[in-house]
Amino acid sequence: MTEPLVVLKGVNKHFGDLHVLQDINLSIGKGEVVVVIGPSGSGKSTLCRTINRLETFETGSITIDGDPLPEEGKELARLRADVGMVFQSFNLFAHKTILDNVTLGPIKARKVPKADAEKRAMELLERVGVAHQAQKFPAQLSGGQQQRVAIARSLAMDPKVMLFDEPTSALDPEMITEVLDVMVALAKEGMTMVVVTHEMGFARKAANRVVFMADGQIVEENTPEAFFTAPTSDRAKDFLSKIL
Ligand code: ADP
Ligand code: MG
Repeated sequence: MTEPLVVLKGVNKHFGDLHVLQDINLSIGKGEVVVVIGPSGSGKSTLCRTINRLETFETGSITIDGDPLPEEGKELARLRADVGMVFQSFNLFAHKTILDNVTLGPIKARKVPKADAEKRAMELLERVGVAHQAQKFPAQLSGGQQQRVAIARSLAMDPKVMLFDEPTSALDPEMITEVLDVMVALAKEGMTMVVVTHEMGFARKAANRVVFMADGQIVEENTPEAFFTAPTSDRAKDFLSKIL
């Protein structure tokens, strides 16, 4: 593996009595694409949110590029910028234009001059195929277009790693491919990515590794090819028999 970028060691987290992350050990190399898959409620979203420090954890450690996750304040803001996150619901600012959605972070958090932020935003919108929509508002775009804007908005902060939590599961089927294509291109360009998805086509095309989670644990990890054709654990076999 390449030099590790995101490293989780013995991470444990509870929601009350629920042991939602159980001794999670996971190391993600620079440029690596890891697909996280598993039944609903297994802790996949919590894992992403914990890496982004949207959730706290009790024991263990998480480092990003060698730095431990900060608790609060300026350092936390910097970490949030280093770790891009794309959610199932696109979470764009409804009352701002597409362009403003993409420039807001760089202008406010990174103090990038407006003209520079807009130039960069237009390049990113071009890259995800929605530059011609820059002056519109989110509600005027399709779900697939909005999700591509959300990806551009994350990229505008120059993240070291991008987390995607079921980015296509709220989309109509005909829009899934246009979002996955953008993600595949990003993967090929060398972005480090953690992607929660059940889209096996994406996993086969872009993932270096599939991590299978169940009941708060990493049960199995392997290359996409090996995982999908020959899962070893009963839980993975059972899960795949239901989604394939
Ligand atoms: P997944 O993304 O794999 O479907 P989640 O990480 O969303 O799973 O949830 C894992 C478990 O944690 C579920 O049982 C869920 O109900 C519970 N959970 C998630 N968020 C919270 C929360 N904020 N408070 C209490 N329980 C939660
Ligand atoms: Mg989830």
